[in-house]
Formats: sequence, C-alpha cells, structure tokens
Amino acid sequence: MSRLVTIDCHYVMPQLAASYLREEDGEVAFIEANTTLTVPRLLAALEKEGLSPQAVKYVIVTHVHLDHAGGASALMAACPNATLLAHPRAARHLIDPAKLVASAKHVYGEEAFEHLYGVISPIDAAKVRALDDGAEVTLGSATLRFLHTRGHANHHFVVHDVAQEVVYTGDAFGLTYPSLQRAGRFSYPSTSPTDFDGEAALASVRRITDLKPRAVGLTHFGLFEDVQVIADQLIRWLEVATARAHEGAKSGDDQGTMEQRFKWQLEQDFEVEASRAGLSLTDADRKLIRFDLELNAQGLALAALKQRG
Ligand SMILES: [Zn+2]
Repeated sequence: MSRLVTIDCHYVMPQLAASYLREEDGEVAFIEANTTLTVPRLLAALEKEGLSPQAVKYVIVTHVHLDHAGGASALMAACPNATLLAHPRAARHLIDPAKLVASAKHVYGEEAFEHLYGVISPIDAAKVRALDDGAEVTLGSATLRFLHTRGHANHHFVVHDVAQEVVYTGDAFGLTYPSLQRAGRFSYPSTSPTDFDGEAALASVRRITDLKPRAVGLTHFGLFEDVQVIADQLIRWLEVATARAHEGAKSGDDQGTMEQRFKWQLEQDFEVEASRAGLSLTDADRKLIRFDLELNAQGLALAALKQRG
C-alpha cells in the first residue's frame, strides 16, 4: 500500500503548518515534526490510518527552524524504531539542542517559547542520520531522495518522493496559505532570518521545478499541482528581494533603517500583488501576512548587511 496524508498541525492557527505522513508497504515516514505540542496530533493521525508508532521508520525534518523540527525529539521518543533524517548542519543541533533552544528563547522570550514549543530534548546521536546532497533512503519499495537547498536556510534540504512524484519542500518553495487562495494562486517566499540568500533561493526553486514533480508538498501549507505557476510567482518576488538586498548593501544605511524600508516596500508589494491576483485583502489576511512581512523584512536587512562583509 502507498499512502500520503497531509496533517494539519494547528500551529498557531489551522492550515498554517503541515506535516506529511507517508507510508509504503507498511513502512512509515513523517516529513516535518512541527512542535512538541503537536506530536499527540501526529500520533493520532497515525492511529487513524491504522498504523502503529513501531511502523515509523523515519522522522524527517527539512531544516531546523522550530515549526519544522521542534517536535522531533518528542516524536522520536514516541516511535521506538525511527531514525531521524536531517541535513548535516541541522543534525548536530537536534543531537544537542542547547544552542537552538537558547537562541529561540532569546527571540521569543521564555514564556512565549514554552507556550509555542514546550520542551525540546536531545536526540540520541545513534538514532540520527545526517544526509548529504543526493543521498537516498528506501521506504518499503519507494525511494526518498534528499537535495540540499540553500536560500531560506543553510541547513535545509527537500525530499524527492520519486514514487509519488512529490517534492516535500519545507520552506524552499515559499508559502501558499489555503486562506489566501480564494481568488487564484497567491504564493510568496519566506526571506526570514538568519540565512536568507536571494540567489541561492532562486537556484533552489529552479532545482525543485527541474525535478518536474506532479505536486509540491509545502509545509505552509499543503499539496499543490500547479508547480510552475507557484514557481513563477516565487521567482518574481525573489528577484525583487535579491535586487533590494544588493541596493541595501550598497546604501550604507544601518540595519534598522533598511528593515523599515523593506517593510514599507513589502506592504506596498502585498497590496499590488493581491489586487493583481484579484484578491481583496481582509483584516484577517493582513494579520496573517503581517507576521511573514516583518520576518521577511528582517531577513532581507540581514542579508544586505552580510553582503557588506
Ligand atoms: Zn524555515
């Protein structure tokens, strides 16, 4: 049997973050572990499919950001036969999460961190496998292939599910929230801190489309078959972002000034792109976009700063 189930993690709100349950010949992989607080939901999805935690062979995280990897330790603890598969730069932070937790607590504050992520524990190094670019593993008779994709994060890979012709893209193929799709496709990239690199992000989008998948499985949020339509929108946003980061690098403006400018520019972009797509933005839409917009402006200002060396 071959199965692919999208699980809504209910992270912050419905249809914001997904995890994928993939089964082939009785062997199971979770792609994305969301947060510790979501793990009961992931296990409930497994049970609903009539599968046991013992059947889970892999827990896969596309990168170490906590809405993708925060639940890895709790999910591994619940699945006794599972191996964690991660990018080499991500694996070490999951074996010893002290640095990861400290920096997230620094960003969110102790209380908000507990509320969003709960407890993140170390994972036994013997159960963690770091995968090089192009590495393959088998799931039953299916093959999963891993491609390193920089741009959003330096510790990011995507998973090519050859049998399903799906690529699980993490954050390397942007954000397509179901609630913003009512007038047609409306996708945009994540250029959030701290690794954003425009040229690398563009190369990653093209690397994914070159695989000619039937569908992409986005963590934010869901499976989409109009892969090239999404790619074209991402490329347009990313070309603008890349040019702005270069201009910012040359400008001599400080980080705060650049961030303010990028934020203002992005506010205009969203209004223009929405009206171009025929999407009239509601207050709820703007609230959803606002969070990404601020992160994207911060990531871009940091990218500009790094270019100055
Ligand atoms: Zn991310």
